[in-house]
Formats: sequence, C-alpha cells, structure tokens
Amino acid sequence: MNNIPVIMIIFGGSGDLAHRKLYPALFNLFEQGLIHDNFAVIGTARRPWSHEYLRDQVSDAVHETHNEVDENDLAAFASHFYYQSHDVTNVEHYETLKNLAQDLDDRYSAQGNRIFYMAMAPKFFGTIAEHINDQHLTSSGFNRIVVEKPFGRDLATAEELNKQITASFAEDDIFRIDHYLGKEMIQNILPMRLTNPLIKNIWNNHNIKNVQVTLAEQLGVEARGGYYETAGALRDMVQNHIFQIITLLAMPEPKDLTSQSIHKAKQELLDSMVIPNEDEIERHFVRGQYLGSDVTFGYRQEPNVAEDSHTETFVAGEVKFKKGPLADLPIYFRTGKEMREKKNRIDIVLKHMSNQYGMAHSNNISIIIDPQMQIFITINGKKINESGIRRENLSYGLSSDEQKQVPDGYERLLHDVFVNDSTNFTHWSELKNYWKFIDHIEEAWQKENEQGQEPEQYLPYRMGPKSAAKIFESPTERWIYE
Ligand code: NAD
Repeated sequence: MNNIPVIMIIFGGSGDLAHRKLYPALFNLFEQGLIHDNFAVIGTARRPWSHEYLRDQVSDAVHETHNEVDENDLAAFASHFYYQSHDVTNVEHYETLKNLAQDLDDRYSAQGNRIFYMAMAPKFFGTIAEHINDQHLTSSGFNRIVVEKPFGRDLATAEELNKQITASFAEDDIFRIDHYLGKEMIQNILPMRLTNPLIKNIWNNHNIKNVQVTLAEQLGVEARGGYYETAGALRDMVQNHIFQIITLLAMPEPKDLTSQSIHKAKQELLDSMVIPNEDEIERHFVRGQYLGSDVTFGYRQEPNVAEDSHTETFVAGEVKFKKGPLADLPIYFRTGKEMREKKNRIDIVLKHMSNQYGMAHSNNISIIIDPQMQIFITINGKKINESGIRRENLSYGLSSDEQKQVPDGYERLLHDVFVNDSTNFTHWSELKNYWKFIDHIEEAWQKENEQGQEPEQYLPYRMGPKSAAKIFESPTERWIYE
C-alpha cells in the first residue's frame, strides 16, 4: 500500500532519536512512496521552534545520514513538517495540538488517521497517554501509538503504563518498539531455522548443547549516567533485546508467518519460562561494573553516577524454558558496556557426537548481528598431510554493497507501523513475562546488596568480569566467543 494518509505526532521532536533515526527513516519511506501527498508530521517539544526551524532540522538530519539526496524531494518532504511547542505536562497544550492535527488532517486529506510516537524520556509516557485520552486526541480513522523503550521499570510500573495507554488504544494499535527486531540478522533467524533441513532437523535439545547470546558494547554510559542509574544492563538490554532474540531462537515453529501466529508461538514458549531460584541465580548469574583506565572513567566516576552505585554495567545469566524445541537447554546471555569491541552475536553450540575420529571441539552455528552481518557453520574435513580433523567455517554473508542496502531497523519498523503489521513489536503478554523474570533477578540482587555483596568490578575493554566464565552448568561449557 502506498501514500498512506496520516498525521503523525512525534512527542520529543527536538530529541536525539527523532533527529538521528526517525527523520531519516521517514524520508526513505517518503522516497519509496509509502507516505507521500497525504501525510504531515507534527514535531512537539518544549523549545520555541518555528515550522521553518524544524524543517531545517529535518533536512540536516537527512543530509547527515545520506550520501546523496535529491534536494527537490527533500524540500517537498520537509514541507510536510510542522512544529508545535508543547509541554507534555500542560493539559491546555493538548487542545492546541489537537486543533493543529485537525487542520492538517483537512489540508492533507489524512482521513482522520493518527500515529502518536513517544520519543521522549520514559517518565513522560504515562502523562502523554493520559492526556491523549482525557483531551480526546484520537481521531475518526486509525489511531496507533508507538512506545519507545523502556516500557516501565518493573512489572508494576509497566502494568500502570499499559493501563494508561489502553485507555485510548487497543492492544493491536500499540506498537512497543524494540529496534533489534528490525535488524537484518534478527529477521534472518526464522528463515534460517525453518527452511533448511540441515538446520531445522537439529534445532532441538537432542542436538544442541547450549545457546549463547552476546550483546557487547565498547562504549561506556557516556552522558547517560543519570538514566543508566535507574536501569542497569539487565533492564536496559536483557528485558527487551536479549529476551526478544532468545524468544525467536527458542519458540516453537509458528503455524504460519502471520503476526498472530508468531505472537502465539512466542507466548507458548514464554508461558513455560523457568524462574530461577536464589541458588540458581547465585550460580548462573554475574553482574559487573567497569573500572576506569588511564584515559577513561570507571562507572562510579561517571557524571550523575553515585560513588557507591550498585548499578550493573554488565550481566551474564541463563534462561530456560519447559517447552519448545530448546526445552530444558541452558540459553546463556551476556551484555555489557566497555567491552573489548562492539559485537552482537548468537552462538548455537552443538552437542559432541561420539565418532571414530574422537575430536572433541565444539561445532557451532553462529549468527553475527553487528557490526558484520553473517551466519557461519562449522564444517569438518581431514587435514591434508597429517591425521586429524580440519575445521572450516562455511559462511553466509552480505556483500558490502548489500549491507549498504539494508534499511535501518527504525525504517523497517516505522514502515510496519504505517502498514499495521505488528509482527516485530512486543505484545503486552510477552512483555509481562520478561518483566516477571527481570523483577525476580533484581529482587535477588537487592538482597545481595543488603548483605554487602557488590557487582564485580571488571577491567574495561575485556570481556566483562572474570566470573562470567563460570556461569555454565557443566565444566565442558565455555563462551564460544572469548
Ligand atoms: P532526548 O533527551 O534527546 O529527547 C527528549 C525530547 O523530549 C526532546 O525533544 C525534549 O525537548 C523533549 N522534552 C523533554 N521534556 C519535555 C516536556 N516536559 N514537554 C515536552 N517535551 C519535552 O531523548 P532521546 O535520546 O531522543 O530518547 C527518546 C526516547 O527514545 C527514550 O525513551 C529513549 O529510551 C528512546 N531511545 C532512544 C534512542 C536513541 O538513539 N536516542 C535509541 C533507542 C531508544
């Protein structure tokens, strides 16, 4: 479907996310004709910008992300942007916003369709949702809302926020965005799993020994110490991105590829998630905090971070399910800041199979999500002039030209919001399960804090704390990516 009529309201129109991700993505969708003549975007924020100033910002954002731009197209695109100075806590401002949206709807024949995008600090999500409802901002056409992460800080706050949003929006119209689900290699997980008998037939707990998900960042918290203190690695990365990846890896095969069937399969898996007891948390979870170096601050010295902070900048742990093809298998994960390099990858470790050659090293299927986009599988052959097994990786990858064609996750997901496809968004019932697990770990850590146990300090630019190498269930297991 092309040229979708809609008025989009972005709360946080002067922010980093809007500038770096949303405006460039919308331009690409405009170039593809998905939105064209019958759309307008209202950027709102507190600053007293003019429409012209916002349009200049939008043009800058597109120039910063594109090598070549058709200036006529860009001018036409930017002319659809309008700025509304708006304090989200001021009820009266919603009336002005509603009137502007209605005027633009008439001018662009947008058929009463609205998309609301919450691109602001999460503490405002509830307030915005509440005022969209009490000031009746929804209109006569479709009304969709896109909610950024984090969706709550625990199950109780997520439930509260969900209540505020569902006062105006049906579950099918709520798009809880997780940009990892828009990534090329994450979208490759299901086709890889389901279309090749070599892989499909071994995707079970008879042949797989464990699964390892690594999301490693090289950067520290930078200027975001204040926010990070309220979150930590578990809430910031595991509750959303890592759980979404694990769900795609471990869910039963969906009946078909509709959004409904995929969410159903995810739910079946998540209903069987095992909540670890305190002893298991002690043995299979590690939290860490990065130390400083000659040229960098340690986490506790970062701006807006408490000197005695217990917030973890690294976590490694394990999750298990009772159902699905990987039932009862350990699925290990780790994520951290100031790690050796930026590397997001999944390693599927196959069980050792007794054989005449006796080789004992592991055979793996690895999916590299970032910065490369690649899948490789170990293949064994013979060494040329000596006995023994030679291992090679058979690899599937995108050429550098193809990698350039891969749309940004935000572009993919915004496209999906316009065409009403919620396959790659988080359903409320999934989110609830994720929070239950996270709350449980947080509670155990809180107890540890009270007993004087702290996150383990780790040297920057390595692979996290030393004890992350000891979370495994058996001594024959180790991180494949060391
Ligand atoms: P930001 O601080 O850069 O932008 C916040 C916006 O909110 C600004 O436009 C600011 O003017 C506006 N604002 C603040 N108080 C306001 C008020 N009272 N009334 C009206 N407007 C007000 O934040 P960001 O980095 O753009 O992040 C926005 C959201 O997107 C957050 O939920 C964040 O977690 C999420 N997110 C951001 C990124 C990213 O790359 N920046 C990536 C993933 C998720």
